[in-house]
Amino acid sequence: MFEALSGKLSGVFDGLAKRGALSEADVTEAMREVRLAMLDADVALPVVKDFVTRVRERAVGHEVLGSISPGQAVAKIVNDALIDALGGAGAVPLNLNAVAPVPILMVGLQGSGKTTTSGKIALRLATRERRKVLLASLDTQRPAAQLQLAQLAERAGVPSLPIVQGQTPVEIARRAMDAGRREGFDVVILDTAGRLSIDEALMDEVRAIRAETQPAETLLVVDAMTGQDAVNTAKAFNEAVGVTGVVMTRMDGDARGGAALSMRAITGAPIKLTGSGEKLDALEEFHPERVAGRILG
Ligand code: GDP
Repeated sequence: MFEALSGKLSGVFDGLAKRGALSEADVTEAMREVRLAMLDADVALPVVKDFVTRVRERAVGHEVLGSISPGQAVAKIVNDALIDALGGAGAVPLNLNAVAPVPILMVGLQGSGKTTTSGKIALRLATRERRKVLLASLDTQRPAAQLQLAQLAERAGVPSLPIVQGQTPVEIARRAMDAGRREGFDVVILDTAGRLSIDEALMDEVRAIRAETQPAETLLVVDAMTGQDAVNTAKAFNEAVGVTGVVMTRMDGDARGGAALSMRAITGAPIKLTGSGEKLDALEEFHPERVAGRILG
């Protein structure tokens, strides 16, 4: 991810670095190249426009044009703007500040990696934070979904809610929370059904489960490989049900990076975690400053 963008941006800054003193025209030309590189990386147009305007405004300030290494000064400004676009300095941790059992609601479209990510988060909380975690699938749409989560839970070494046929998602959620309270769990991860597209039935179901469980986190799982669609999905989910964080999966693929760079500005929701593989330990915190560092090489 980000390789193409990274390559193009270093081309721009290498060019600037060779020049010594910079004129306003040099900055304008560099910003034109940055704009094209970001559009090629599939960053949303309003985000690109805002980004380039902000960088340009700062770059034509005296500190850069008059500085002894203006190329570096511009790179620093771009680095700061990238960090802002990615959500600001520092990872945004999962919010588990609620009365136990803390419900975490997982939402997203089918195939986004939601069930796998539920297992990854369970494993992480159980091993790194020593929390007692219960996994529950509320997916009554796909016949095999509850079984899939049960198998994943077994691989993660985390208990899952016993499957009872014929219950509605809200009934399963209630049963999961009851079990969580009764059996002293710290966290209950509720994996909801995905759909092929966003529809009202899906949103109604998520709203009903939210009302029942009052989750501390509603995490939206999106596939980085779907680019702008991931951002549009996040916008729709956030407007319909409210999202407290995004998990972006398939960061190990060759996605161009636009989704990661557009997500915060377009949806307001922070990327909290990323998935980088099929294995259960392939889950990372999202550190905007590290990602910006990677993009700038
Ligand atoms: P769901 O329908 O949203 O619950 O999606 P699943 O969790 O069943 O995942 C669909 C497929 O994507 C599975 O084959 C997962 O192993 C795979 N997958 C999930 N997350 C990642 C990831 O971060 N990277 C890669 N390469 N594959 C992933």
